[in-house]
Amino acid sequence: MSTVAPPATMRVVELAGTGDASVLVPATRPTPRPGPGELVVRVGACGVCGHDALARRGELAAGPGTVLGHEIAGRVVALGPEVPGDWLDRRVALVQRIPCGRCDECAAGATTHCRSGPGFYGEDLDGGYAEYVRASPRNAVPLPDGIDDATGAILSCAVGTGLRALRSAEVWPGQVVVVTGAGGGVGLHTVALARHLGARVVGLVGSAAKVAAVRSAGAEAVVTSDADGLRDAVRTLGGRRGAHVVVETTGAPTFATALRALAPRGRLVLVGNTEPGALPLDPGRTIVKELRVSGSAHADRDDLTEVVELVADGAITPVPAHRRPLAEVADAHAALDARTVTGRAVVTP
Ligand SMILES: [Zn+2]
Ligand SMILES: [Zn+2]
Repeated sequence: MSTVAPPATMRVVELAGTGDASVLVPATRPTPRPGPGELVVRVGACGVCGHDALARRGELAAGPGTVLGHEIAGRVVALGPEVPGDWLDRRVALVQRIPCGRCDECAAGATTHCRSGPGFYGEDLDGGYAEYVRASPRNAVPLPDGIDDATGAILSCAVGTGLRALRSAEVWPGQVVVVTGAGGGVGLHTVALARHLGARVVGLVGSAAKVAAVRSAGAEAVVTSDADGLRDAVRTLGGRRGAHVVVETTGAPTFATALRALAPRGRLVLVGNTEPGALPLDPGRTIVKELRVSGSAHADRDDLTEVVELVADGAITPVPAHRRPLAEVADAHAALDARTVTGRAVVTP
C-alpha cells in the first residue's frame, strides 16, 4: 500500500461542452483509488495533443465532464492489490491506453487494439489534465532520472507514434522519407527518428515559421506545402523516382501531394487525421506504382520502452515546447487551433 496517501479530492480541467478553448474549465474530482492490479500516478506533466483539440471540438466521442489528456508522466503514489511493491514511488511514462492483459488482442501482443481494459485516457477513463490518474504496470514504463516529466509525457504519443509508423514502413538507411506536418509534435520527432534510422528526410510544413525547427530535428530539406518543391527536394536527396516512404501526420491537407511524391512500391503510413473525412486516394497511381497505403496507431508498451532507451542513450532529443501550468491548458489549445505550436506543448498540475 501507498506510504504517500493522495488527498481525497484533486484539481482537474474538464470539458464543459464542446467548442472553442473556452469550454476547458477547472473542476474538482475525487482522487482515483487503485483497483486490483492498478497504480495511481501523480501527474508530473501532460502533453497537449491535436487529438485533444479534435475531442474538444466535438469531432470525437467526448462529452461534457470529460477530462482530456493522454500524454502523461509522473510518479506512482499508490498501488492496488496484486501489484509488486517495487512500483511504488517509481517515475513513469504512460502509454495512452491501459490494456486488459487477457483478451485475444492482448494475448497476441496487439495491446493497441485491446477494447476490454480500462481503455484510452480522455475517452474511456479520465485523462491527464488532472493531478492524478489511474494506470497499470501494463501501460507504465519506468523513467530514468535523466528524463524529466515534461519530456517523459510526450514520449508515447509524440515520439512513439512515429517510431511505430517508421517500423511498419520498413525504412532502410539511405531511403528518402517525407514527413508531412513536420513541424507538429509527432512530425518533428518522426523527422528525428527517421534520421536516426539512417534515412534522408524531407519535411513538409504548413508555415515558414517552422522550417528552422524541422531542419534542426534532422531534415535535410524542408518544403512549405508545394508539390513541385517536394518533388525537387526528394530528387535532390536521391529519390530519383520519388520518396520511398511518407509518414503522413496531417491527413487531408497534404495527402494528395504526399501520395504523388512516392516512388514505385513506396509506402505511405497515415498516423494523423487533423481534418476527419475521406481522403482523395488516386487508384490509378496506387495500382500502377504498387503503392502501399496503411495506417499506424498509437505506440504500445514495447514501443515506449524503446523510445525511453533511445532518449536515455541520447540517440534522439525530444523537445517539449510551451510549458504551462494546467490552469492555462485552454491557452495551449488556442495555440493549437491557431497552428502556432512548434513541437508538443505540455501542462503541469
Ligand atoms: Zn497525443
Ligand atoms: Zn486486452
